[in-house]
Amino acid sequence: MSDQNLSKSQSPLFTHSDNSVGSSDKPEESCGIFGVYAPQADVARLTYFGLFALQHRGQESAGITVSNGAHMACYSRMGLVNQVFNEQILSILKGYIATGHVRYSTTGSSVQANTQPVLVEGKRFIGENGNTKPETVSLALAHNGNLVNTRELQRACEELGIQLSTTSDSEIMTRLIHAAYTGDIQAALENTLPQFKGAFAVIVQTPRELVAIRDNPGIRPLVVGCLGDEKSPDGWVVASETCALDIVGAKYLFDVEPGTAVMINGSGIRKFRWTKSNVEKEKVCAFEYIYFARPDSLFRGKSIHAIRQRMGEILAREAPLDADIIVPVPDSGTPHAIGYARASKIPFTEGLIKNRYVGRTFIDPQERLRALGVRMKLNPLEKVLNGQRVVLVDDSIVRGTTSRQIVQLLRDAGAVEVHMRIASPPVVFPCFYGIDTADQEQLIASHYTNPENDYSELAEYLGADSLAYLSIEGMLEAFGHTADEMCLACLNGDYPIPISAQTRLGLHKFMLERKIPQQKNGDIDAVRSVSDDPDPGDLPGPSDV
Ligand code: SF4
Repeated sequence: MSDQNLSKSQSPLFTHSDNSVGSSDKPEESCGIFGVYAPQADVARLTYFGLFALQHRGQESAGITVSNGAHMACYSRMGLVNQVFNEQILSILKGYIATGHVRYSTTGSSVQANTQPVLVEGKRFIGENGNTKPETVSLALAHNGNLVNTRELQRACEELGIQLSTTSDSEIMTRLIHAAYTGDIQAALENTLPQFKGAFAVIVQTPRELVAIRDNPGIRPLVVGCLGDEKSPDGWVVASETCALDIVGAKYLFDVEPGTAVMINGSGIRKFRWTKSNVEKEKVCAFEYIYFARPDSLFRGKSIHAIRQRMGEILAREAPLDADIIVPVPDSGTPHAIGYARASKIPFTEGLIKNRYVGRTFIDPQERLRALGVRMKLNPLEKVLNGQRVVLVDDSIVRGTTSRQIVQLLRDAGAVEVHMRIASPPVVFPCFYGIDTADQEQLIASHYTNPENDYSELAEYLGADSLAYLSIEGMLEAFGHTADEMCLACLNGDYPIPISAQTRLGLHKFMLERKIPQQKNGDIDAVRSVSDDPDPGDLPGPSDV
């Protein structure tokens, strides 16, 4: 099938723009990853559903790579999962191993070249002790997170004579692992992964193996489940969150531990430590609990929905109010608001109705439409709000751009008082681990920090009568974890993976940007996709291997 054929039916429709109407005032997640090893299943279709469940983690592009034991093929495009894939494409992607990816870019711009999984093919000398022969080796990688020593790794690629085809740190990881491969994927990973500094939950795929890997100390999440009977599984599934296991009917088994890899192949499933240094205590990103993860996911066996309600309850204890109604900022503030209402005994009610079809798929609006701002996304219920003293509960404020507009919406609808209650601590430091908040200037609370935690000036800026945040201690109480079990860097400046001041200056989303050699159809040399293959439909199926 030619690329033209696929493009006609499946041209990328939308890109995400930070300036779009209804764009989020929230930190943006870096990616979602999903992998499946199941000899009897339609793995591309399972991956499609898994990515569908992880769509909240990235909306810029989507991709799936399949292996059939001998060959690998990949299809990835800009757009949402249901815009990128259709029946025709899924039916081409045949095999018994698959890896999927949805992207929000943190290193490398949002373009086709940087879509994932990254699939690299090239000749390697396979064998040992001088008894080697050249073979074509295929290797794919899907990455959630962000490296902090990208420049160093870029130089390592240059020294090895590796020419990068994209501008993402994920391609650097893929090519260095590929360069180290001499027939044993575990050895290649043990030799390569210790070079990578930063946050990475990755899935590495070869024609016959799927490997799920988590950084040390485990900032980005990764879980493993099984299909069918746990004692005699039909297959294995790995995913960023448990909600993606649920959608394909997989049973949750365990979290991949920090500094650990889980290898799945024809011999079954086994774990190995990829690092020789001490495996650190798991330090999951606090924002996974606050905002990123879907409320129906479980983290370390705990319900995210229940944790968020508890955060709201504790906030009501720490920052009580006399008011008439509790209104959430939908949808992300809803569980926290339910908790606040329960603890304060003030009625919970919807006061803002969200238009779920505006937002991340709405691109490049005309200026006059942009001026409508948040109203495109949220509409106030005047009958509910008129004459009321409102407690407006949100999960977090990062840039503060939409909070101001939301407060004004409530006032325009007749609210006589608007008090903001934020069910997480102020975000005052940048994140370098895969969340798009690397510029401290943009963090609204960083301009208002004070020893007394007095945010009355910020409340005034937002147009609210008062503003209070949940304390770090209160948040940890809700999580049921201690401070050394979490990454809290954007809240307290304590970075679990050290980054020098000089490195911080050089870390930004476009640090690897340069002119990329484009093929006429926009695909990149050496990164194969299904559309580059003369007839991927002829790949042998698993039964032929
Ligand atoms: S700095 Fe903040 S957003 Fe980044 S990984 Fe740590 S807790 Fe998450």
